[in-house]
Amino acid sequence: MNIYRKYFKKYRVMFLTAVSCVFFEAICDLLQPAIMSRIIDNGIKNSRVDSVLKLGLLMLIITLCGAGFAATRNILASKVSQRFGADLRYDVFSKIMKFSEESVDKIESGSLITRMTNDTSQIMQFVNGMMRIFFKAPLTCMGSIILAVILSPFMSIVLFCAIAIIAILIVISMKMSYSRFAKVQTAIDRLNTTVQEYLLGIRLVKAFGRFSDEEEKFSAVNTDLFQKSVSSQLVVSYFSPLMSLTISTGIALIIYLGSILFGKGYIEVGKVAAFINYMMQILTSLIMITNIFNTFIRTKASTQRVVEVLESQEDFSGFDNEEVISESSLEFKNVTFAYPDGSGLPALKNLSFRVNEGETLAIIGPTGSGKSTVAWLCLRFYDVPEGSIYINDKDIRELATNYIRNNIALAPQKSMLFTGTVFDNIVWGMQEENSEKMLNAAKQAQADEFVQKMSNGYDSLLGQNGVNLSGGQKQRLSIARALAKDSPIMILDDCTSALDAVTEAKVRRALRDTEAKKTIIMITQRIGTAMTADKILVMDNGINAGFGSHKELLSTCKTYREIYDSQIGGDL
Ligand code: ADP
Ligand code: MG
Repeated sequence: MNIYRKYFKKYRVMFLTAVSCVFFEAICDLLQPAIMSRIIDNGIKNSRVDSVLKLGLLMLIITLCGAGFAATRNILASKVSQRFGADLRYDVFSKIMKFSEESVDKIESGSLITRMTNDTSQIMQFVNGMMRIFFKAPLTCMGSIILAVILSPFMSIVLFCAIAIIAILIVISMKMSYSRFAKVQTAIDRLNTTVQEYLLGIRLVKAFGRFSDEEEKFSAVNTDLFQKSVSSQLVVSYFSPLMSLTISTGIALIIYLGSILFGKGYIEVGKVAAFINYMMQILTSLIMITNIFNTFIRTKASTQRVVEVLESQEDFSGFDNEEVISESSLEFKNVTFAYPDGSGLPALKNLSFRVNEGETLAIIGPTGSGKSTVAWLCLRFYDVPEGSIYINDKDIRELATNYIRNNIALAPQKSMLFTGTVFDNIVWGMQEENSEKMLNAAKQAQADEFVQKMSNGYDSLLGQNGVNLSGGQKQRLSIARALAKDSPIMILDDCTSALDAVTEAKVRRALRDTEAKKTIIMITQRIGTAMTADKILVMDNGINAGFGSHKELLSTCKTYREIYDSQIGGDL
């Protein structure tokens, strides 16, 4: 419950003011039955109108004060809980931004969204409720019990029996509801993830006509959520009537006992009335306390889920090193790496290679051979357990992540575009927006031509993930973005696959002719693309199956020869 402590420190003044209001409000509530008993026993019984009026006025004033305190604490409670929620959401979001790859893989995005919305609201509701009634209910309850005992120790025996039964009921209901509430939250997660997955693959679902399956899938998670919610509500629906029943029976007993005691002259009518009044107050506060416990239990489940996010592993540290160097070499030395949540088999095995400044390296190999893994590791998304990776002859584990990432521009295998204009998308990685550089990058990536043809040129709006573009157009914008970032190392992960051979050759030529010589890593499956590079790394199943120039590899590397023959058609 550390998060509560942290935020309460921030709102200490408001919180303490609210608590004091609640305290005075409870006292006002407690005074009323006592005054009422006086009105009955002194005023009405003795027919003294002036005393009735005076006490009546006092009661009115106390009620007004109580209402004032109640209004104040309500306002404060809303303010504090809303700010608390906003802070919490902000903290969760900043944490997600710092997530390490492992954390990203661990918590599904659907679940992250539930945690940021539903779970945070739950926590906010709890904070709000806590400031309104958390202290009031126990205070009124304790005060009423004490005052009732003073009124009539004998009748209090009934009261204590009722309280004991209720305490047992509360404990049982708490035990029963915790696991149920936790299950409800997981069910909400599943619902979110299902919808998200559907939305991501909506075109595929349409193309394969799998609506009925999707509907079934959704219907299953939806029913599951419904059933779990009902089951968690059932606990509440059984227990609160049981509590009311206990107290009502108690009140009936008190009236019975009171009438006997009154008949024998042991007690006055006003005291019996006040006792019943206190008993009612105890009832209301006990029901409130049960509600608090219920919210508490729900919130405990939600808090745990939010704390899990807040305590997730963070990405490797970044120092404030924004420096961009002018040229860089890149080297892998005996790198062996397996994904933390993968099959356990290494994606890279004892991999070594080196590209010098300004050189172009092509990596070629079948799918699943570990090419993209090389790209991710260069950016230090994961640390390698064996071997080392060097940028400019420095081990990347000794470099800040933002330094590494400033010096490498990546065009990923799957182009990612954002809602916004073409311009926004290209300048997205630049340290400073620069239209001239942007235009240059677009021209080099062969994007200028089709962008000019769009209705608003570079100001044309792109839909989410560039839905209004073709695969090749997306790839060209993605390359333009990487070029505009102007980093000394550029990694192009199979991002010319959707370009025709002529356009691709133009892109390649443009890359080679840049003024500032970049170190380029070009991941590809096409021999035609790889051939022109200074050096070629042939990958097969995570290992280095050959390294050298096109000519050398043709004569020395069997895998390369095979790829060459199958694509260029040597033996066909
Ligand atoms: P390529 O880019 O050559 O097609 P990858 O580098 O993407 O190959 O993948 C290499 C191996 O690592 C594959 O066996 C793949 O299943 C595995 N892999 C890739 N990404 C992940 C991941 N995030 N978690 C677990 N395993 C992964
Ligand atoms: Mg790949």
